[in-house]
Amino acid sequence: MGAVAAVAVLVAAATGMGVVMMAGGSTEGEQATAAPEYRQPTTASPAPKPVRTASAATTPSPQRITPPVAGPGTVITEGPASAGRKVALTIDDGTCASCVDRILDVVESTGGKVTLFPNGVYGGSWEPQAGRIRKLIASGQVTLGNHTYSHQVSTKIGPTAFAADLQRNEDWIQKTFTVTGRPWFRPPYGDRNASIDDAAGARGYRKVIMWSGTVADSQPRSEAYILDAIDYWARPGAIILMHANYPATANALPRIFRKLEKKGLEPVTLAELLGPAPDTSR
Ligand SMILES: [Zn+2]
Repeated sequence: MGAVAAVAVLVAAATGMGVVMMAGGSTEGEQATAAPEYRQPTTASPAPKPVRTASAATTPSPQRITPPVAGPGTVITEGPASAGRKVALTIDDGTCASCVDRILDVVESTGGKVTLFPNGVYGGSWEPQAGRIRKLIASGQVTLGNHTYSHQVSTKIGPTAFAADLQRNEDWIQKTFTVTGRPWFRPPYGDRNASIDDAAGARGYRKVIMWSGTVADSQPRSEAYILDAIDYWARPGAIILMHANYPATANALPRIFRKLEKKGLEPVTLAELLGPAPDTSR
């Protein structure tokens, strides 16, 4: 009896594991129905090199304003192996003011950690929240990065106009939040090339942050859709793309945190996932 039960448990565990591994990275076995959009490839970028050791990553970065440290712009799509079971939720734009407000409520009430990439053009959503965001940065619950001021297609406007728009957003971040967004740059639409990476790196934006998974919420989605996407993409070291543009993402956030916890994954800021950068940790 005992042996039979043990075998049943083993089979169940193996089956469960098979499902998880499939969901993590294979499209094998997809049915004839179209896969959800969040499963579409989102980036052709190469895997990142490990950036820092995990032990160096435990100190929250205060993102204090210091002179920019220029260097090559390194494209990063996920955390290093040393990140263990850490996952970074990254939340962009902010076209919906009440969504930004709700996200911050959840972060405050749960103690959860996120990375925000606001655009100055949506300042009306962010500026009223500046005091709360400053506190969350200081407590290590939020990392703030630069997503450009106007959210244009960088390769279309070219490196010079791109650099000016990036700097405009850095100026807005400094004025609004009294921190720097350096060295974290998230390209609008994930649109970038070597010239854009270099232009960002030259201004101290040396971490070009892409993503390993997305909840595809640039358009309205249901909470169930967003939670399915998290199920599909959440894995050790993941960087997950989200937006503060529609209510479902903000409303799903408490359940996203619970889901990650159930999976044994730890939501952290980019500063924790990748390690503090030399020009933000002094
Ligand atoms: Zn965006």
